[in-house]
Amino acid sequence: MNQISQKLKKIIDHYSQFVISSHQNVDGDGLGSALSLHFLLQSQGKKSTVVYDGNIPYFYQFLPGIDEISSWEDFSRNLDAFPQTVFWVLDCSNPARLGGVERLLPNCSLVVNLDHHPDNSHFGDINLVCPQIPASSLLVYQLIKDLEVALNREMATNILTGIITDTGGFQFFELDQKLIGIIDELVGAGASMSTIMRHAFHYRSVQALKLLGRALENLWFDSQLKYTIIHLSQEDFLACQAKEEDAEGIVDYGLFIPGAEITVFFKEVKPKNFKVSLRSRGKINVLPVAHQFGGGGHLKAAGFKISGSYPEVNKKVIAFLKEFLAHPQDDKETLEEDARRSIESL
Ligand code: AMP
Ligand code: MN
Ligand code: MN
Repeated sequence: MNQISQKLKKIIDHYSQFVISSHQNVDGDGLGSALSLHFLLQSQGKKSTVVYDGNIPYFYQFLPGIDEISSWEDFSRNLDAFPQTVFWVLDCSNPARLGGVERLLPNCSLVVNLDHHPDNSHFGDINLVCPQIPASSLLVYQLIKDLEVALNREMATNILTGIITDTGGFQFFELDQKLIGIIDELVGAGASMSTIMRHAFHYRSVQALKLLGRALENLWFDSQLKYTIIHLSQEDFLACQAKEEDAEGIVDYGLFIPGAEITVFFKEVKPKNFKVSLRSRGKINVLPVAHQFGGGGHLKAAGFKISGSYPEVNKKVIAFLKEFLAHPQDDKETLEEDARRSIESL
């Protein structure tokens, strides 16, 4: 067992009360890693509560344990009921991304930060940050193995959901023999690959499909610089009666185009407030673009928030992107170096 797993085992043995959370705008890996850890702790006879500040998209309702998640609103009324608590933060690069749940940080006994974002701020008392792995849920898998806990269907389904969603159904991460071996074990424990794939990618409301139609109609491709722009305005959301969660997965269409290397997706979530998603195929690292605008993420999937009218926001972002594409990327090596250091420290 490696050093970190030994420390985590001691923590699990020593404490009896645990709270788990993940980043806002939660995705399959945030939920999958948090819920698999929840089942791991419960299997050890511990009291575990998963708390989340935000709306959980309907297409994740199939996840075992999803109904046990407490809303921050309910949880925060009873903060005194959680003395001597260990707070586990999963798949979340910095505390600000927790929303209201960030308030737990100064009020708990210990913070454990398990993540795979290269720009994680190491805000925990214990930090296990592995940028090379495709999903944070694999850290929970590793802990289950190290602790020699029996993998059950609930844990396996949540872990596999993290892997499938963060790899875009194995498009963004080469499926190697090691990962196939892990998946074999997860399927053996009762996880259903087809159920997860269907819910993650092909289970969307009429409103979501109408919204996709609008997004594709607005799509624009620069064949010279090889980037795609997708834009959804407030008007689009209103016309389709769609919610923010209905835009999940739309960004990926920008990379369907032969030759497209980068996609920028502008999503107007409130009037003049945009969430921007960046995706890359090939060598280009989009993280510096997200950092330029105060966001973060991974080398090939990152995001940020920006406010202004669409023409203003588009102008700022695309001007920076063009400048960025015209110059070699200085920090790529640093990021890869950081990533190597983190995995070596495991
Ligand atoms: P998204 O485009 O929202 O699917 O996010 C892609 C990746 O970027 C995910 O790993 C997110 O956690 C990360 N990300 C998105 N928005 C932000 C933000 N405002 N700050 C930090 N990381 C972000
Ligand atoms: Mn995530
Ligand atoms: Mn993740």
